[in-house]
Amino acid sequence: MPITFDNSYQRDLEGLYLPVAGAPAPEPALAVLNLPLAQALGLDADFLQSPDGLAMLTGARLPEGAAGLAMAYAGHQFGGFSPQLGDGRALLLGEVLDPQGRRFDIHLKGSGPTPFSRGGDGKAGLGPVLREYLMGEAMFALGIPTTRALAATLTGERVYRQRMEPGAVLARVASSHIRVGTFQFFYARGDIARLRRLADYTINRHDPALAGAPDRYLGFLDKVIDRQAQLIAQWMAVGFVHGVMNTDNCALSGETIDYGPCAFLDAYDPGTVFSSIDHGGRYAYGNQPVLARWNLARLAETLTPLIAPENPEEALSDLRPMIEGAEARFDAAIARRMAAKLGLDAPNPALVAGFLDLLKGRDFTQGFRHLIAAAQGDEGPLRAHLGAGVDAWLPAWFSAFPADGLARMAAVNPVFIPRNHAVEGALDAAVGGDMAPFRRLLGVLQAPFAENPDAADLAGPAPEGFGDYVTYCGT
Ligand code: AMP
Ligand code: MG
Repeated sequence: MPITFDNSYQRDLEGLYLPVAGAPAPEPALAVLNLPLAQALGLDADFLQSPDGLAMLTGARLPEGAAGLAMAYAGHQFGGFSPQLGDGRALLLGEVLDPQGRRFDIHLKGSGPTPFSRGGDGKAGLGPVLREYLMGEAMFALGIPTTRALAATLTGERVYRQRMEPGAVLARVASSHIRVGTFQFFYARGDIARLRRLADYTINRHDPALAGAPDRYLGFLDKVIDRQAQLIAQWMAVGFVHGVMNTDNCALSGETIDYGPCAFLDAYDPGTVFSSIDHGGRYAYGNQPVLARWNLARLAETLTPLIAPENPEEALSDLRPMIEGAEARFDAAIARRMAAKLGLDAPNPALVAGFLDLLKGRDFTQGFRHLIAAAQGDEGPLRAHLGAGVDAWLPAWFSAFPADGLARMAAVNPVFIPRNHAVEGALDAAVGGDMAPFRRLLGVLQAPFAENPDAADLAGPAPEGFGDYVTYCGT
C-alpha cells in the first residue's frame, strides 16, 4: 500500500517553498530500512521495499500525493548571515499522520539538486548518510528529541566527498523541518506577510494551544526556549557535540537536526571541538548552551514585526527579558540533568562541578558508570578512573544520595554511546560493501542503558593510536 500523505506545508504555505523533483537513481537498492519506525508511522514496509518504494526513497520518482518541495531558509553560519540557503540537496516528500494522529515530515536528503543548491551537486555519500542514521537512532534510544532515519537507499551512482563513495539518500522523519533560519529567510526580506503565515502555521503545528491568542508570538518564543533548554541539557548530559549549530540547523520543534560533523566526547573537556571547520571553537561542547541562546535571540528578532509592526522597540521590550531570562532556564535544565546523573533528585551545583573537575581529561561516559558501581559499594573502578582526588568528593555525594538514586542513575547514564572509532570503523566497512559492523553497532546503540558483555569492545574510548578525531561538514 503506497503512503497516504497529508501535506499541510505545501497546502498552507504556498510561496514559502519551491517545487522540486529528485534526480534519477540508476540502480536503487536499500542499504538499511528502519522497520520499527516504519511500523510506528503506520507505513507499509512491503511498499517501501518495492520498486515504487525505492524510486520514492531515492526521490527518482515521487508517488501520487507526494509534496516534492524544497523549503526556503536562511541562516547564520558561524555567526555570518546567509540570506539564502534552503534545501539544496533535499526535498520534502510529504507529511504523514501516525496512528495517534501525530504529524511527521518525511524528507529526503541527497536526492539531487534544487534551485537552492548554489552550485552543489545535491547528492550525498553512503558514509555520511549512515552516520546521520546511526547518530539519530542513538540519540532516539538515549531519549533525546531528534529527527530519525527511516531508510538509507543507495542510488547506484558514486559521489566524491572525503573520498569516492556510493551515492545514497537518507529518508528522514521529523516532527517538522522548520528552523530558526526559515523565519530569518522572510524576516531578512521584509516579507512580513509570509513571515506571519509561517509563524501562525508553526504555532498551529507545534503549539496549538497558543493558536489565535493575541500574545501567541511571545508564547511561542517561550515554548521554543523551553524546548531548546531541555534539548541542550540532554546533549550536555551525554557529551554530545553537534558541531554546526548554525541557525539553519536549529529546529523549532526542539529536535536535534542535521547531523553533520557531530560526535560524542570520550575524555571530558569543555573545549572539545571535532569539526574540521570550527577553528575558533564556536560550537565547542561547553559553548553549546551559549550558542543555542544566541540562535534564540536571532529567532526573537524575527518576531518583532509580528508583535508590534509599527514599533519594533516596543516588541523588543517584551522579547529582551525573555532572551535574557533564557540563561537561567538553560542553567536550571542542565543542573537538573547533571544532578540526575549523580542520582540526585534536586540540582546540586557544587557536587556536579566537583565531579566534573575530577573528570577532566578522563572518559566522560565511563566515569558516570563507575559512579553507579561506587553507589553499589564497588569504588575501585571509580578510584582507578579519577585518582585519589575522588576521596575528598565521595563523602558529600554519599550523604546527598537519595534512596532512589541508583534507579535514576541507571536511566540517564548510558553504557553505550556512538564511540568515534566504532562509528568510523562501521562506516568504512559499509562504504567498502560490508554492512555487518554497521548493523551490529546500530543494534548495540538501540539499547544504550543495558550492560551487554557481547559488546564490551564498543563501550570504551578510542584506542591510543586512533589520535585526535576530526569530523567534516557537507556530509
Ligand atoms: P548543512 O551544512 O548540511 O547544514 O547545509 C548548509 C546548506 O548547504 C544547506 O542549504 C544545504 O542544502 C546546502 N548543501 C550542503 N551540501 C550540499 C550539496 N552537496 N549540494 C547542494 N547543496 C548542499
Ligand atoms: Mg543544515
